[in-house]
Amino acid sequence: MGGFPITYAERIQKLPPYLFAAIDEMKQKAMARGVDIINLGIGDPDLPTPAPIIDRLKKAAADPKHHQYPSYDGMLSFRTAVSRWYKKRFGVTADPATEVLTLIGSKEGIGHVPLAFIDSGDVVLVPSPGYPVYPVAASFAGGTSYTMPLLKQNGFLPDLNAIPKGIAQRAKLMFLNSPNNPTSVVADQEFFSRVVAFAQEHHIIVCHDAAYSEIYFDGKRPTSFLEAEGAMTVGIEFHSLSKTFNMTGWRIGFAVGNREIIAGLGKVKSNLDSGVFQAVQEAGITALDSDDQLTEGLRKIYQERRDVLVPGLQALGLELDPPTAAFYAWITVPKGYTSTSFTAHLLEKVGIVTTPGNGFGDPGEGYIRMTLTTSKERLAEAIERIQKVGW
Ligand SMILES: *Cc1c(COP(=O)(O)O)cnc(C)c1O
Repeated sequence: MGGFPITYAERIQKLPPYLFAAIDEMKQKAMARGVDIINLGIGDPDLPTPAPIIDRLKKAAADPKHHQYPSYDGMLSFRTAVSRWYKKRFGVTADPATEVLTLIGSKEGIGHVPLAFIDSGDVVLVPSPGYPVYPVAASFAGGTSYTMPLLKQNGFLPDLNAIPKGIAQRAKLMFLNSPNNPTSVVADQEFFSRVVAFAQEHHIIVCHDAAYSEIYFDGKRPTSFLEAEGAMTVGIEFHSLSKTFNMTGWRIGFAVGNREIIAGLGKVKSNLDSGVFQAVQEAGITALDSDDQLTEGLRKIYQERRDVLVPGLQALGLELDPPTAAFYAWITVPKGYTSTSFTAHLLEKVGIVTTPGNGFGDPGEGYIRMTLTTSKERLAEAIERIQKVGW
């Protein structure tokens, strides 16, 4: 009675189809059959948040001064900890008052930043395969995404020379992501310098997603985009405590960089949200000030897992480059398979969940992604199972 057809806004109707639906259904069916699933599809650390961070939260949560609305930009003490961490980790100077912003997880900042800079029809340059939030955020702001394909022949980095002049001229914002999800590829300073030159020439705001900067192997520390000369004039960098400190559920991240870009994002946020619970920011200070003590052990665990999974897959004849950072293996599917059919094969035949590469955008077709967020015993078992059935 009184009902009427509820219609979704165009921005919702235009959302890309959910490519993982078929896989989810297959997974549910396998679980219902009692299959012992090995889930290599999850991009969420399996280990708990380190105890000192939890202890700091407990104390801070009991303090009534944290029970009211936090400040919009984040506590100055948290932003100062970010600035300290940046200086120490990357040698980059950032003013806590104007060049750092607390975020409710980096996804929140990535999702909101186009609203500050993109008008209807503006072009946003988006790497693909990539984090699905980049094109969706562009589209929600009324922008048009232009795909920068990440191809093997370019080392899975965007080829700036392949972007047509007309597109570069219309582009207002570019998303980048290193270490990369899903390919795990790390960009070097030479690449970042070319990005700065390109952005300066075409007046493009660069938004670099560095969520995985602290998950690295063999002691090879990824660099920051902001280390490149001139980067502070064109861009900002997103970081997250999620992957670095096993804090995905806590919802805290931050952006650092050009003060006008930071201010633009801050304007959007102050009109839409009310910041991060201050007790969580207090805990974040403990995390950032921990001087690698809390992260070194995690890196070791991921590296051990990598050293089980990658050689195991290579011995089976699968083609992949060992990741030097992040926690993903980006694997070429064997001849005769597509991303989807190989994912289905692994799930149906041996109960292993992986993610089809095309779920991260069309240029991801021909690949699957496996994650290192599972114990090395389970990873070894996954290799054994695949060996038994082959493909
Ligand atoms: C996990 C992830 C993030 C971090 O998300 P949070 O909102 O900070 O938890 C950002 N970018 C990429 C590419 C990711 O995979």
